[in-house]
Amino acid sequence: MSVIVLIEHSSGNIKKKSFEAVQYASEIAQRLGTSATAVVAGSVADSEMQKLGEYGAKKVLHVPDERLNNLHTRAYCRLLITAARQENSEVIVTLHDVNGRAIAPRVAVALKAGLVSGALSYPDLDQGFMIKKSVFSGKAFAFVKVTTAIKVIMLVPNTFQLSKTTGSVIIEKLSVPFEDKDFAIKVTEVNKVTGQIPLADAELVVSGGRGLKGPENWGLIENLAKELGAATACSRPVADAHWRPHHEHVGQTGGTIRPNLYIAAGISGAIQHLAGVSGSKTIVVINKDPEAPFFKAANYGVVGDVMEVLPRLTEAVRKF
Ligand code: FAD
Repeated sequence: MSVIVLIEHSSGNIKKKSFEAVQYASEIAQRLGTSATAVVAGSVADSEMQKLGEYGAKKVLHVPDERLNNLHTRAYCRLLITAARQENSEVIVTLHDVNGRAIAPRVAVALKAGLVSGALSYPDLDQGFMIKKSVFSGKAFAFVKVTTAIKVIMLVPNTFQLSKTTGSVIIEKLSVPFEDKDFAIKVTEVNKVTGQIPLADAELVVSGGRGLKGPENWGLIENLAKELGAATACSRPVADAHWRPHHEHVGQTGGTIRPNLYIAAGISGAIQHLAGVSGSKTIVVINKDPEAPFFKAANYGVVGDVMEVLPRLTEAVRKF
């Protein structure tokens, strides 16, 4: 019996949020008196997989099929189900992100497991496996007990601080009985954004909304981000209007981030936007409307026109 955790990587580099998931799974395993096994799919070097040991994993089950370098939902579900059955796992951990949302519910149905999405705490074993989770787009918390024998938990990224230790993993190959239909969707092109700070891992984020008026003004966001060494993000209508790429959109239907500093410029602060950013340590809001709802969630607010405030803020940071 072990706790298993699904790993995400980008071109063979394990994502920071997956190290968080491993650390989380390892702590649960320890409380259950067992160990954590990481499941890695696609082309990842052994030296990279060894890093999982630094966050508590004891074993890695690797499926080195290069078709898995892209997300094929059916194939990923099949490999996680195979791993869970092989390891006789009681707990399966994924991230609460785009991939996790596609995989975890299907795996839970197949294994007749209870599913906790939006997990924000370790399970309290004294309370019958009770977990704190985010509900109503992050507006409230709920405490749920998972009563099934097998449990699937989707951890919200950036919930816990990473703390590295020493440790190594045993790497084993996992054989999965894939079928052709598992790879029915062909990925024909992958466009990677390079040279920017990955949004999910960023400590500082500068984000823009419709108040920026159009893509021609995005230099104001980028200039401030550059001075701060921050990543850039946006509200959903901005991505829908193709002012910015969709991977920058944060919120209920986009990414969830928890940076140390989130600067929101010309964003109203709708509940669906807050769902993705309300866990930020410090929120700074710039909006010309003093009644904008975002000010209620802000630590610092500037009532003003982004066209004037952003250049002045950028200049101030440059001089700092
Ligand atoms: P607006 O609501 O148009 O607000 C623009 C703001 O800019 C206003 O507050 C205005 O006062 C201010 N402003 C205008 N000009 C200036 C200026 N010159 N200087 C300073 N301030 C200025 N939204 C998301 O962001 N992420 C999501 O994941 C998401 N998911 C959704 C899911 C569902 C099911 C639904 C129904 C909606 C979702 N939305 C999401 C949309 C959300 O409800 C809001 O419509 C959206 O967040 C608004 O974006 P915005 O603040 O950029 O634009």
